Amino acid sequence: MALVCCLQTAIGQRISYIVSFPNLAHHEALIQLIVTDISTRTAIFRMSRSSPGRYATHEFGKNVYDVVAFDQQGKPLTINRIDGDVYEVPHPGNYVRLQYTLYGNYADGTYVGLDPSGIHFNMPGAFMWLKGVDNTPITIHFDVPAEWHWTIATQLQPTNDPLTFSARGLQYFMDCPTVIGNLSYRSWEVKNPDGKKYAFRIALDGAADSTQFTQFAEKVQRIVRQEQAVYGEVPAYDYGTYTFLASINPYVHGDGMEHRNSTMISIPAPFYGDDRMLGVFAHEFFHCWNVKRIRPKTLEPFNFEKSDMSYELWFAEGFTQYYGNLLVLRAGIGKDTDFVRRTVAQLIDTKMNTPGGKLYSPVQASELAVFTDAGVSVDKTNYPNIFASYYPYGGAIALALDLQLREKFNKTLDDVMQGAWKKFGKPQPEVPYTVPGLEEVLASVTGDKKFAQQYFDQYIYGHAPIDYNALLAPAGFRLKKAEPGKAWIGSGRMTEREGLIIEGNTLRGTPLYDAGLDVDDKILAIDNQDVRTMADLNTVLDRLHPGTPVTIRYLHHTEEKSGKIVPQENPALVVETFETAGLPVTPAIQQFRQHWLGAK
Ligand SMILES: [Zn+2]
Repeated sequence: MALVCCLQTAIGQRISYIVSFPNLAHHEALIQLIVTDISTRTAIFRMSRSSPGRYATHEFGKNVYDVVAFDQQGKPLTINRIDGDVYEVPHPGNYVRLQYTLYGNYADGTYVGLDPSGIHFNMPGAFMWLKGVDNTPITIHFDVPAEWHWTIATQLQPTNDPLTFSARGLQYFMDCPTVIGNLSYRSWEVKNPDGKKYAFRIALDGAADSTQFTQFAEKVQRIVRQEQAVYGEVPAYDYGTYTFLASINPYVHGDGMEHRNSTMISIPAPFYGDDRMLGVFAHEFFHCWNVKRIRPKTLEPFNFEKSDMSYELWFAEGFTQYYGNLLVLRAGIGKDTDFVRRTVAQLIDTKMNTPGGKLYSPVQASELAVFTDAGVSVDKTNYPNIFASYYPYGGAIALALDLQLREKFNKTLDDVMQGAWKKFGKPQPEVPYTVPGLEEVLASVTGDKKFAQQYFDQYIYGHAPIDYNALLAPAGFRLKKAEPGKAWIGSGRMTEREGLIIEGNTLRGTPLYDAGLDVDDKILAIDNQDVRTMADLNTVLDRLHPGTPVTIRYLHHTEEKSGKIVPQENPALVVETFETAGLPVTPAIQQFRQHWLGAK
């Protein structure tokens, strides 16, 4: 309790947390929150309902209990729980010490993991805060026994005590996830064109072969260089350091969460230095520009008390999604043909073949994040028919724009990202952007205001179709149907249980949807042939023809129904190279590919 004495003598208002771990075996931490110089007679403390990088509510108050409060003499104070996650403490003086137990058994980028093998704090998931004092400096002390030999990785501001950190205010505090455990580190330096140097480090929570870790860190370093090349510089990180918090072990849950000066990456697998893990590193690092500093106005300041809606996630997440795998490739890892066959094909499929991509705009997709971003409810929704994830959907827009800028304007999407950086992210203070602001950047990069306006009207506020075949041609790639001529009734999950049960919503425009079948219906027969298994279904489809109606018999609840279904050709697409298609690969095509996919 030595720290408490020091804090009492501090001058001016200060918020201090003391975190101890008396019951890690049962995933509990004891948290004390001490406030000095409170100006109001009633202190209102609350848990967050949302977390930066997450847009739906997550109700972090559910894992807080045994809340008590004391005055400066240690005398208990009355607590009124005025909402599920809000606690009101009337107090006679200007000091309150609030104490509570926190439960956390979900180590990832969003929640809290408290375990004898290590500790993960996503701050909004762990720490109550005093309402109305967002700019009061915060100190936090982690009471980690020396005999555990653990270290603390965080982008909170270090102090002379390795167990104590500070933050200039609530927003910064919440943006600094903290991992404590048996961590290993790799670090390096990055120099900007202005000569300033920044320290980079990976703090790995997971058993790793030292050589594999070193090789992996070198690849991350190459990716960082390619990302720096996109923007022309790395941001001026607070306290000069950027940290990859990497929990790669079987006991975490998969997540990647961006922050101003760090990212929390959790991958539930043993660490073998696998290249497939690099995509998430590239994606999350890209966010230290795009979304953390090139910041949507809708998210500024972040509201921890409700969901945070944004019109811009197609850009903040979608463009980042496009760049993630592209930058791994530019760093010399993987093959360009694999990038095109997998990433590019998936992005295009989202735009061309999903109801969300065909019928709704990227702005509308972004608006739905408040429900779809791991928001939890028990009733069914119609997301498959009204929502395309803004990750691949935005990525599909980024891809189309990049290809068009290269072909039509001799510019690239890198120029747009750099334009957005210089206009919104680099100025101090930063200038939060809006969708019209992004349109201005495109107008300025292309020098063509009309083009930018049309582009945004058609593809950002609108959902006009995009001719990817034409856009891919200069790079020597083209689209073709995955199963030309083959009859198809609609994709989606089906399970075999005395018939074929449709597991997901049927999709608008597919034969099953048009025939009136929906989720939970059970297919019994098609074209008078019994269908009980996926194998049965494929056998029937093999002899049917797209466009020719056949009968379908199915069970809806307990009622057997029959009707007509018109199979279509499967719209699934693959991307093939001109080489495999037997088309000429000209020097111009080779140069286009090199500029697009090669190292900078
Ligand atoms: Zn992201």
